[in-house]
Amino acid sequence: MFEKILIANRGEIALRIQRACREMGIKTVAVHSEADAEAKYVKLADESVCIGPAQSGLSYLNIPAIISAAEVTDSEAIHPGYGFLSENADFAERVEQSGFVFIGPRPETIRLMGDKVSAKDSMKAAGVPCVPGSDGATPEDSDEIIRIAKDIGYPVIIKAAGGGGGRGMRVVHTEAALLNAVSMTKNEAQTAFGNPVVYLEKYLENPRHIEIQVLADEHGNAVFLGERDCSMQRRHQKILEEAPAPGLSTKLRDKIGESCAAACRRIGYRGAGTFEFLYENDQFFFIEMNTRVQVEHPVTEMITGIDIVQEQVRIAAGEKLRFKQKDIQFRGHSIECRINAEDPYTFVPSPGRITVYHVPGGPGIRVDSHVYQNYVVPQYYDSMIGKLISYGATRDQAIARMKTALSEMVVEGIKTNVPLHQDLMRDVAFVQGGSSIHYLEQKLAAAKKGQ
Ligand code: ADP
Repeated sequence: MFEKILIANRGEIALRIQRACREMGIKTVAVHSEADAEAKYVKLADESVCIGPAQSGLSYLNIPAIISAAEVTDSEAIHPGYGFLSENADFAERVEQSGFVFIGPRPETIRLMGDKVSAKDSMKAAGVPCVPGSDGATPEDSDEIIRIAKDIGYPVIIKAAGGGGGRGMRVVHTEAALLNAVSMTKNEAQTAFGNPVVYLEKYLENPRHIEIQVLADEHGNAVFLGERDCSMQRRHQKILEEAPAPGLSTKLRDKIGESCAAACRRIGYRGAGTFEFLYENDQFFFIEMNTRVQVEHPVTEMITGIDIVQEQVRIAAGEKLRFKQKDIQFRGHSIECRINAEDPYTFVPSPGRITVYHVPGGPGIRVDSHVYQNYVVPQYYDSMIGKLISYGATRDQAIARMKTALSEMVVEGIKTNVPLHQDLMRDVAFVQGGSSIHYLEQKLAAAKKGQ
């Protein structure tokens, strides 16, 4: 096992990884920007190294600075967390070439899955059901594009092969709008992701977002840890996640889960990963794979009792998976609310000093957060300041506990989206379970109209 791991990230996930390491007796190195120098998890780490100014391009994305930090601290492995460099194949390659272990998949796997066109191709070949669409990138020929869209049937969605974070997508309802939309999306994709390749998919009108968590070791073993429902989204960004997905049968879950584990074995996947699907009329359609730990991993940990971050570390150290599929039991229900420093209804970011801070507790409540009273939420990064996670024997109990937790949570000095989550916990459709990915936007739009 490693003696020292460098954590190439910030915020709650940096603290989460640090805690996982500490429990395993592994020392940690926190790298941080000038803006995060005073963060609690930086002080709590065994060592810390400043890697640059506040702007993430100069610090958390600064590959040479991170590699040097690993060198000067004698770290053995680097955990990239999520976001930043976590799905950057060049970074993973540089880490390994410099003699460190990258806690994640092989660089070539990251590259394969990072391009949505090649990811879809390889999943199709592995027998994972995909959204019907253009096989591969859209061709140059306009007539061809029109023909493909007609075959798929409108509405279609144009998606950037290099896209991510809910950007680089455009829905088209009519043939008249198609070609113009393709060329606009191509231009945007070139500017945003440096890759103009786009592809077409059937636009599913009322799907849910359900994803499968997997773990695979480098010895050819792979298991799935069940699913998460992440349908509560705004602008394609998840706000609340839960496990298991309400109403999904064990039979369907096992079938799709097994096909993901089989795909991992086939492509030689290593580490933790997530297969994202749209789910409509009892059918799963693969959209993409995330080759890293996800923000919403705790809900899976709560219902399986498996520490996903520690398993990532064990896999990276070359260990065999410690369990077989039949050893994995799903118990109870878990919900995660992402707590963001933003206006709960306009979503305008609200950085600044937290003047009063009280976190909830009690049975079945977990808070993953790096903030504290007097902490200043920097303006430079993502607005998420933590995650409130509830667990119950049943979904109703998880909701009841979340309601209590949200009512106890006090964050003053900045705005947060706690009121939005409180609203959701009382929402009839949410309480019933199984809403589509459009539900939250529709609810917000209706509330705005009613004002
Ligand atoms: P990203 O990498 O940017 O997150 P995804 O491919 O995972 O992109 O898609 C993000 C979200 O966009 C999905 O959760 C869903 O809300 C929407 N979406 C993507 N593809 C489709 C589709 N074919 N039909 C309907 N909605 C889609």
